[in-house]
Amino acid sequence: MQASKQRRPRVGVSACLLGDTVRYDGGHKRNETVLALGEELELIPLCPEFTIGLGIPRPPLAVFRQPDGPRVRQLEDRRVDVTDDLREFGHMTAWKELDGYILKARSPSCAADDAPLLDEAGQAVGTTAGLFALAIREEDADVPMISEEALQDSERREAFLAAVRARAGRDRSLARLLQTPDD
Ligand code: SF4
Repeated sequence: MQASKQRRPRVGVSACLLGDTVRYDGGHKRNETVLALGEELELIPLCPEFTIGLGIPRPPLAVFRQPDGPRVRQLEDRRVDVTDDLREFGHMTAWKELDGYILKARSPSCAADDAPLLDEAGQAVGTTAGLFALAIREEDADVPMISEEALQDSERREAFLAAVRARAGRDRSLARLLQTPDD
């Protein structure tokens, strides 16, 4: 019997955490804990704000509470609303069926769950997922997601990695089922 085809788990990562200078201010948020995971995981850089065509540098964004759900707008000019573009890129990314995501904490686009949610006056009224992350979850509710800050906690990190490995293993099982005897 042939050995199953092995592959490293594939994890989408906010590109700024890998050291890419894609933040609104032209900087990055390189994180050594995230980079160290590259020994085991295939880390796939993603920057939704750059990908949807916002420049570097660019005006900062924020998530605003609206009756029809959270919207991402420029802080300085709230007529600029990029919600639909972020959501579309999130849905497209989900179709890649990655094994997990490591996403920048508190980002209006990337945050898994802790982006500040503002009211019309600009006051914080709670927290929310960033709109890119929210759209991924709409397509793939169970995909493991964690922030770089939560990764610092060993228990949460191990739980995330176990979930990622399980998804990658599930894919390998499927690949075995699809193999022909001559593979
Ligand atoms: S938090 Fe997300 S959108 Fe913002 S710079 Fe990093 S990767 Fe890009």
